[in-house]
Amino acid sequence: MNIASKPDPAVAARSPYFTEEHEMLRAQVRRFVEREIKPNAAPWEEAGFVPREVLRRMGGLGFFGIRYPAQYGGAEMDTLATVVLAEELGRSTFAGVAITALVHTDMASVHLFNAGNDAQKSRWMPGVIDGSVITAVAITEPDAGSDVKGMRTIARRKGDAYVLDGSKTYITNGVHADLCCVAAKLDLAGPPSRSVSMFLVERGTPGFTVGRVLDKHGWRSSDTAELVFKECRIPAQNLLGHEGHGFHAIMHNFQNERIVLGAMAMGEAQAALDLTLDYVKTRKAFGAPLWDKQAIRQRLAMLSAKVEAGRQLVCNAAWLDTRGVDATKEVSMVKAYCGELVNEVMYDCLQFHGGAGYMRESAIERMTRDARVQAIGGGATEVMLEEIAKRI
Ligand SMILES: Cc1cc2nc3c(=O)[nH]c(=O)nc-3n(C[C@H](O)[C@H](O)[C@H](O)COP(=O)(O)OP(=O)(O)OC[C@H]3O[C@@H](n4cnc5c(N)ncnc54)[C@H](O)[C@@H]3O)c2cc1C
Repeated sequence: MNIASKPDPAVAARSPYFTEEHEMLRAQVRRFVEREIKPNAAPWEEAGFVPREVLRRMGGLGFFGIRYPAQYGGAEMDTLATVVLAEELGRSTFAGVAITALVHTDMASVHLFNAGNDAQKSRWMPGVIDGSVITAVAITEPDAGSDVKGMRTIARRKGDAYVLDGSKTYITNGVHADLCCVAAKLDLAGPPSRSVSMFLVERGTPGFTVGRVLDKHGWRSSDTAELVFKECRIPAQNLLGHEGHGFHAIMHNFQNERIVLGAMAMGEAQAALDLTLDYVKTRKAFGAPLWDKQAIRQRLAMLSAKVEAGRQLVCNAAWLDTRGVDATKEVSMVKAYCGELVNEVMYDCLQFHGGAGYMRESAIERMTRDARVQAIGGGATEVMLEEIAKRI
């Protein structure tokens, strides 16, 4: 990993979770965010995607291989390093950029890495890590979102190939990804938990097309698409892992996805608090800065406490994950709590910006729109609460 800056030992000493190496990574990602994302990302919001050269630079800096083995170009760090990456990208104030990178690193390519065989990994992982191959994961369908088992996309084995038919929706990186990890059933009538398999589908495969490019409320610099598979023939060796193991793989990989989304949400929330603190300390009303109003000061103080609590929840879940412990309850708490909290923070931060916060030119306006999906995607709050309820 290309880490140039010096860590702050005082920061590492204040946390049981983060080492100096994590703090070096944090400094490096933060520098990239300040220099390359914040000054440049407004046009990407207009364009609807993050330029490929930016993703290549992130790959070049090692951000896409944090957890992956050195043999493919990775840095072999742990789940807490991913938390650092997600939190710092979340702090960029451009969550669409953050999610473009994080879907690639922690939601899509993990399917290839966790279930792929040596040949598949040798072929694709170096490109995944250096940013020349961008990945997407296609699970959701028009009639199957929270209820993953309801998917209808089918993969029929024909000789040395599988033929895919069906459609997917809301797929992040769907427009521009080079490689898509696609969930499909081998048998629509069989038990869903043993019928789903994951397949690698390359961009440009005949029968695989991008349907509509979707126009969104937020995350506007992240491309999102419908994907269509019509007699899409892929080589049998593009099966990831074993037939029928896909549902288990999806549920397993969701755990990492939810830790990452929680960390990203807390980064977004912290950035909103930081810029609102700056604003209320300079904006005057009734002869004094807004900060002098106890009602505002105390609301921001309480939100700061809640965000710190959310961060600790994320770190604890990530730490359990590094120890190989089943942390489904804690991870579901992370997703439910952080997904709701980031929206609470954005609501109040926009409120304290007054009319300025309602204007499209303000960062808080964009951040409020971006945050909304944190309570929906990757496990809606209500679904997460059911997972917690089963375990308490
Ligand atoms: C911007 C964006 C990007 C996305 N990226 C991807 C991607 O890259 N790949 C991918 O596969 N998917 C992706 N998704 C899909 C996302 O994970 C789903 O939208 C999510 O799982 C919810 O599914 P749904 O939209 O079908 O809502 P539904 O399942 O129809 O649920 C609608 C609402 O009903 C409620 N609900 C659902 N189930 C329950 C329950 N059991 N109890 C109580 N209430 C319930 C919740 O409030 C939920 O939000 C993305 C979605 C968005 C919006």
